[in-house]
Amino acid sequence: MFKNAFRLPFRLLGIPLYLDVTFLIILPLLAWMIGAQLEQFVTVLEMPVDVAPLLEGYTPFLLGLAAALMLFGSVVVHELGHAVTGRFYGVETERITLWLLGGVAHFKEMPKQRGAEAVVAIAGPITSFVLGGIFAGLIPFVPGEMGGLYFVVVYTAYMNVVLATFNLIPALPLDGGRVLRSLLALRTSRLEATRISAAISRGLAIALGLFGLVTFNLFMILIAFFVYMAVTAETQYAVFTEGLSRFSVELLMTSPVATVPPDITVGEVFDRMLAEARLAYPVQTGDGAYVGQVTVAGIQQARRDQRISEVMEPLPEMIPMGTGADELFDRMIREDQHRLLVADDHGSVVGIVTKTDLMRAFQIASEAPKGDVATEPAGP
Ligand SMILES: [Zn+2]
Repeated sequence: MFKNAFRLPFRLLGIPLYLDVTFLIILPLLAWMIGAQLEQFVTVLEMPVDVAPLLEGYTPFLLGLAAALMLFGSVVVHELGHAVTGRFYGVETERITLWLLGGVAHFKEMPKQRGAEAVVAIAGPITSFVLGGIFAGLIPFVPGEMGGLYFVVVYTAYMNVVLATFNLIPALPLDGGRVLRSLLALRTSRLEATRISAAISRGLAIALGLFGLVTFNLFMILIAFFVYMAVTAETQYAVFTEGLSRFSVELLMTSPVATVPPDITVGEVFDRMLAEARLAYPVQTGDGAYVGQVTVAGIQQARRDQRISEVMEPLPEMIPMGTGADELFDRMIREDQHRLLVADDHGSVVGIVTKTDLMRAFQIASEAPKGDVATEPAGP
């Protein structure tokens, strides 16, 4: 997801902000929709403003754009609420992405403390309620003659309350679903908690979709579809990592590590890759230091007589012994790494672990005999 997202040239509280392409589609659409319904908003929310000047020329659409930008700004603040709370548990947010259906804060890892997911999840809606309250508090200070500003302030206050309330629906991956799962996990295993909340989420997604169909609300149908798909992915992920968590990295790693010296040629390394059927080697100097890695993809464009030191890539990252394969999986996905080095307590390299090792572990876990927790069907 979010492969086609581009980064904005600034950070918020140290967190990079990304815009997904779907966001660029929804923004003008939303601006247009808000503009087209401006008169209804003013009437329904009983705004004491003269609506006539707001409907002249391009004004509705400019106001729609301002309101849409305020809405997405509010979504970013909501995500920052999650991010700041995550930091409290020692978990950093890698980035915040805005897309078609709102915002996502990508955590580097999930906080491990019991109940922490619930606290991090509830922080988003609380932030939105507070922000809604702040904008509501501003309303009396906006002069009635400034109808456009009045509209945008009221709209922002209103939408923050909608945002907070909507996110409290107890369906994964919405905040309410995460709160529910985290609370369930206090009484049962995390996998079981995911299964129960996934069942509830699917039910809610179907109900939401039917409601969207009956009321011709396309946005609601879209959300229902998104919830349903995300729940399936979330359950698969939980089953997958549960199976992996039984293996620790020293069981999967290859040890000792086969290395190459930096002064041999590309040709020599390639011949060795062929002979040993290996895709990569860490590069190790005579005094035992690891200085980089050479991969088969990395030498594709090189000449046979080039030195390895000229074509080598940065060393794969190190993980400590005792790390679970579930965490290994998270790191490989997140950092798009195919191999990681395993280090002992003193920081010395003791082994290397690859994606293939991980797949092998998962295959064993997923083909365990019946009655084993990791093989039960993902659904309820
Ligand atoms: Zn949230």
